[in-house]
Amino acid sequence: RDELAGRNVTVAGLGVSGVPAAKALHRFGAKVTVVNGGDGDGPRAQAAELEELGITVRLGDDRILPEGAQLIVTNPGFKPDSPLFLAADAAGVPVWGDVELAWRLRGVTGRAPAPWLAVTGTNGKTTTVQMLAAILEAAGLRTAAVGNIGVSLVDAVLGDEEYDVLAVELSSYQLHWAPSVRAHSAAVLNLAPDHLDWHGSMEAYAADKGRVYEGNQVACVYNAADPVTERLVREADVVEGCRAIGFTLASPRPGELGVVDGILVDRAFVEDRQQRAQELAEVGDVTPAAPHNIANALAAAALARAYGVAPAAVRDGLRAFRPDAHRIEHVADVAGVAYVDDSKATNTHATEASLAAYDPIVWIAGGLAKGAAFDGLVKASAKRLRAAVLIGADRRLIREALARHAPDVPVVDLDRTDTGAMAAAVAEAARLARPGDTVLMAPACASMDMFVNYKARGDAFAAAVRELPAARTDNE
Ligand code: ADP
Repeated sequence: RDELAGRNVTVAGLGVSGVPAAKALHRFGAKVTVVNGGDGDGPRAQAAELEELGITVRLGDDRILPEGAQLIVTNPGFKPDSPLFLAADAAGVPVWGDVELAWRLRGVTGRAPAPWLAVTGTNGKTTTVQMLAAILEAAGLRTAAVGNIGVSLVDAVLGDEEYDVLAVELSSYQLHWAPSVRAHSAAVLNLAPDHLDWHGSMEAYAADKGRVYEGNQVACVYNAADPVTERLVREADVVEGCRAIGFTLASPRPGELGVVDGILVDRAFVEDRQQRAQELAEVGDVTPAAPHNIANALAAAALARAYGVAPAAVRDGLRAFRPDAHRIEHVADVAGVAYVDDSKATNTHATEASLAAYDPIVWIAGGLAKGAAFDGLVKASAKRLRAAVLIGADRRLIREALARHAPDVPVVDLDRTDTGAMAAAVAEAARLARPGDTVLMAPACASMDMFVNYKARGDAFAAAVRELPAARTDNE
């Protein structure tokens, strides 16, 4: 707080993290200037709200460092090599992310700061922090799922609500700008190439993810099937006595959580020394009970157990958990065919996980590939594909991968990038599917070529499913 009073602080970027950050800085006496590249209706409305408080906002240019700036608090979306940071670097001005700001403001309200249980990884972060929050709630703890999930950490730290412990989702961007954060315990769920344009390389991406373990107090949770996550634990500087805890879909070794005969078991935090393993929950308690999601549940359970939560609360929390929309969401059964919306599968790693959960599949895919290659995905999934229906800007890349690795799978390339293409794809998929099949919309691509975001894409899919002739008769 004393560091902020009277200081010239530049907030880079408005939005879900920038607006709360600017308000908090202003509240603690900083002289705040916000710079934002866009100057459309959205930014203008946010700017008006901040200007009313006496905060200066500059719209339309976020490259020039304001005169006299002593600190930058940045929105995580800014690339490390943005002109603003090069200027800051040259002038010796420090840069904090909104997560760093939140961490430093813990306790200013006079309440004891709630410890953080942190989750990062390429895929499954949101699901895992929500599972974790559900488990903590089942244990009677005051908690919330916050961070990259769309709930500002600054707001959570400064708000009126009191928390015992926070379930914190952190993106690799946020971790890049949050050097001081020290979690109670943290998990890296998995690591696959993503956002490499931002980080510069896979090594830099992994290093940013690995920061989540720095200074952990009780447990560093890693994925036993993903050696890089284990290496990151080994390389981290942690508090003495902090343990490395693996999770696995196989039978766990001592010190791990895993699965035995359809039961999630804990061999890391066993209370009774006589006991070899502590049973936590059944696989069927997890929705959906697909392998990747059982892995998410084990990671959430590991963090909760590290915090001291009892086995029964792990089970109750997992039973209470329901995934957010567009994440392997079952939309409807029509004429014996299941229709599943996994619009959130925006990269190949996520899509591979959801294709592994069904068989046989009529696969709807395509969109913006973000530089991805589809060979690995198609190779791993070819046997389960009844057919594929392709839409979107980069569909050719998927079509070519299918031709190389799944030449027998019928492919319909709709050759369309308009919004109506989704309805056509669903109709085509319905024609190709047989009773017992799953029509899975897991695009392996971003949505922005055709839709505002992945939610709009998922909504278009669901609307088209409801319009299928058989669906209409079912409803009558
Ligand atoms: P994130 O917050 O990391 O983007 P989500 O929980 O929103 O992750 O899930 C995004 C998508 O990733 C899901 O729709 C699903 O297809 C896939 N997914 C979820 N968990 C995993 C996992 N552990 N491994 C691989 N893919 C996953």
